[in-house]
Amino acid sequence: MKNWSNTYEYTAPRIEAPATVDELRRVVAEADRVRPLGSRHSFNGIADTPGTLVDMTALPVEVTIDAEAGTATVSGGTRYGVLAAALDEAGFALHNMGSLPHISVAGAVATGTHGSGVTNGNLSSAVRGLELVTPDGDLRRVTADDPELAGSVVALGALGPAVRVTVAIEPRYLIRQDTYRRMSWDTLLGSFREVAGGAYSISVFTNWVQNDVEQLWVKRRIESADAAVPDEYFGAIRDLTERPELVPGVTDNLTRRGVAQPWHFGLPHFRLDVPPSAGDEIQTEYFVAIDDAAGALSAVRALGDRIAPHLTVTELRTMAADDLWLSPASGRDSLAIHFTWLNHPDEVFALLPVIEEALAPFAPRPHWGKLNRVDPAGFAAAYPHLADQRELVTRHDPSGKFRNEYLDRVLGLGAAQELPDVSAPMGR
Ligand SMILES: Cc1cc2nc3c(=O)[nH]c(=O)nc-3n(C[C@H](O)[C@H](O)[C@H](O)COP(=O)(O)OP(=O)(O)OC[C@H]3O[C@@H](n4cnc5c(N)ncnc54)[C@H](O)[C@@H]3O)c2cc1C
Repeated sequence: MKNWSNTYEYTAPRIEAPATVDELRRVVAEADRVRPLGSRHSFNGIADTPGTLVDMTALPVEVTIDAEAGTATVSGGTRYGVLAAALDEAGFALHNMGSLPHISVAGAVATGTHGSGVTNGNLSSAVRGLELVTPDGDLRRVTADDPELAGSVVALGALGPAVRVTVAIEPRYLIRQDTYRRMSWDTLLGSFREVAGGAYSISVFTNWVQNDVEQLWVKRRIESADAAVPDEYFGAIRDLTERPELVPGVTDNLTRRGVAQPWHFGLPHFRLDVPPSAGDEIQTEYFVAIDDAAGALSAVRALGDRIAPHLTVTELRTMAADDLWLSPASGRDSLAIHFTWLNHPDEVFALLPVIEEALAPFAPRPHWGKLNRVDPAGFAAAYPHLADQRELVTRHDPSGKFRNEYLDRVLGLGAAQELPDVSAPMGR
């Protein structure tokens, strides 16, 4: 079995697809080593195990809305697009969506998956509670007022499978998405916060080597369908094409521009009914503080000639700070510098330490579910709560049933503590 892009092959000798929570509990209780698997949209070995993988998407979809509490409780393997449709039909919405609605809710929040918007927290920041399977196969609830929630949401699957996730909801709203082309680098670097904060959600696309920044996707939260939209955005000019080509072959699967749409059609980049993105790809992403945007972007831009031959496109997004221990936006308003790579694993793997070194002054945090070469010391430097997380994980899972090689490295557990650096392939 491989991940969504066929670039990572799971090594687990056994895969189970439990159809009920009781069956899942039995599988977990009887396994020596076990890991929950979502929709397989991560690019490294984060979900893998030398024991049993449990396909959480096989469990039935459940969505229960509590309008009074302002929450919805959803089965963990449910895809965001399915949850969003159920919420919208009932008059509700989520505050944010990732670029694709195909990912599972629990798998996405386990890695701190994000959308964009300087005042929007990532998807994990909406979590108000979880129901987890313990190593013994029991069910354990973590509620909104439990201080352990901060370490239980972006938990990388290390606290066991989440069978139910409770998220904050709000009244449904409209989004209008427009494309703007060609913004000067000087404008972007000189006014990053203003550009990134000029609408509800902004994505900036570049290949690093062109003179201007190629595209901006501006997603405005609007009150009425006929709301006027300016033709210029910080000097960039509006493109009236309904689905402008981002890179060759990535057009028809994009969500629409220039029209008011329900929030769950306008916020994601990709449509739920067709495969997203380019497909044959690898992804990497680093998070730095928004206040370091100009310095961090200039440092990566200086590597543009080395990056471009292996790159499909880079996307820049933002997110508001949160207080989740392993969230990429923990404690700081953040800029996410994302790379969709061509399927050039050797070249990309060799380039990552170069990019990581360039970003080192900004304490970069890698996306947990994407390819990176950060070593245990780098994770410890980037995440002030790593020791708290380690304590939480070892207390709830003393035998390490839910751990794997990747988790041991990032959490600095077991043999990984002695590793001088991560020269062995991480996630390949
Ligand atoms: C085309 C594409 C676009 C993407 N866009 C974005 C984006 O816009 N923003 C962003 O931040 N990321 C993005 N990602 C990355 C993706 O959101 C994350 O890798 C996410 O974790 C994938 O969720 P999944 O359900 O596929 O989980 P998997 O990849 O299957 O698993 C990821 C982790 O979650 C754990 N897990 C899975 N299910 C459960 C569960 N029920 N309970 C507990 N733990 C569980 C696994 O053990 C593993 O540790 C993108 C990926 C792709 C392929």
